[in-house]
Amino acid sequence: MTKMKQGNDILSKDKDYVWHSMKPYNPDGTMVVEKADGSWVTDHTGKRYLDGMAGLWCVNIGYGRTELAEAAYEQLKEMAYYPLTQSHNPAIKLAEKLNEMLGEEYVIFFSNSGSEANETAFKIARQYHQQRGEGSRYKFISRYRSYHGNSMGSLAATGQAQRKFKYEPLAPGFIHVAPPDSYRNPENDNTKPTELNSVQDIDRAMTWELSETIAGVIMEPIITGGGILIPPDGYMKGVKEVCEKHGALLIVDEVICGFGRTGKPFGFMNYGVTPDIITMAKGITSAYLPLSATAVKKEIYESFKGTEEYDYFRHINTFGGNPAACALALKNLEIMENENLFARSKTLGERLKTSLATNIQDHPYVGNVRGKGLLVGIELVKDKSTKEPLEVELVNKVIAGCKQKGLIIGKNGATVAGFNNVLSISPPLNILEEDLKFIVKTVTEEVTAL
Ligand code: PMP
Repeated sequence: MTKMKQGNDILSKDKDYVWHSMKPYNPDGTMVVEKADGSWVTDHTGKRYLDGMAGLWCVNIGYGRTELAEAAYEQLKEMAYYPLTQSHNPAIKLAEKLNEMLGEEYVIFFSNSGSEANETAFKIARQYHQQRGEGSRYKFISRYRSYHGNSMGSLAATGQAQRKFKYEPLAPGFIHVAPPDSYRNPENDNTKPTELNSVQDIDRAMTWELSETIAGVIMEPIITGGGILIPPDGYMKGVKEVCEKHGALLIVDEVICGFGRTGKPFGFMNYGVTPDIITMAKGITSAYLPLSATAVKKEIYESFKGTEEYDYFRHINTFGGNPAACALALKNLEIMENENLFARSKTLGERLKTSLATNIQDHPYVGNVRGKGLLVGIELVKDKSTKEPLEVELVNKVIAGCKQKGLIIGKNGATVAGFNNVLSISPPLNILEEDLKFIVKTVTEEVTAL
């Protein structure tokens, strides 16, 4: 038996007993967060930080909302659990609410995490094609630099080599193409969507792999973890057209972009397309409890209603759609609507982006300030003309300087050596205006000091 440590040294106990993800993410040591309220968190020493990343892009309505705790408590008292092989009111009400927000008829499969929501989507897409006599359609097209989760399928869909290579072989059947990158490879927004190079890449991949083998495309509306890559306006429409041409489904990963992050209820709504399958997690509960969802177009769902036993979807998730999580999610969405947080994300995000650009765009290391809603990225480069990424040590210096001053921001860019150069800022959508000013001031100071 292990000998338990005596005493109260919380950091040394943490070091001994807790295995953290992404250790190098914290070059200056682990912070033990003990309290959180609004957009602010407090660590074990009593120091307060403005959370400019809303946790991991998920605490959309901020911390400390007792209404959410109450909604979960009331549901736990009433009926704590029943599996969704049967049904319960919180899941039904939440699925109805999501339909209202999505504006089209979707049927919802609940799980607990973004990774699971994507796995569910892949299985639904494959079975859908099989049931139409197109069993050869098993491949998915995804983009380099994207992140879609930690499980063997969602990691295979992920386009970040350094996250994957130690765990290979991953699920087969995932093909990657270049992402649209309006900073490094600008494309003309006025061309017809299907003429964009980044769309043609997908068209060509489907043709060369044989259309008859392609089940679908998985994409975030804006690649977030891979560096906040805003596509040209026509990109998503172009991808949808190419999917239709080749008989493939369009799966849109809204795990980060959903629930107001980009200034609309869902990220795809910025781009005028209707996805076949939509996956969501994080902001659905503002991360107060685990919950995720895979929304599937009604026609696709209907095609599963055969008479044979094997026609049904062979997929079960014990905790998926937990009643307390669903009740809490409903309250969370009600708050987002009552407080007009989608519009707020759009307005404040625009202000954040413009103020940062005004202050730092001329700095020799600032390649590009970009974003949509409260999803803002600053790409740091060694040289503005070559766009060579800035060394990660200097990027870390900005992050550490901000943290010192009580501001948490993130770093993205595909976790590929040399491309860890995008500062990311994604605070809660109800961040106060004075807190937004604190972000602008602090980031400006730390970037200017480079
Ligand atoms: N998709 C995207 C776009 C994500 O950013 C993430 C997580 N950061 C996931 C999927 C996986 O979500 P989870 O960590 O909840 O499994």
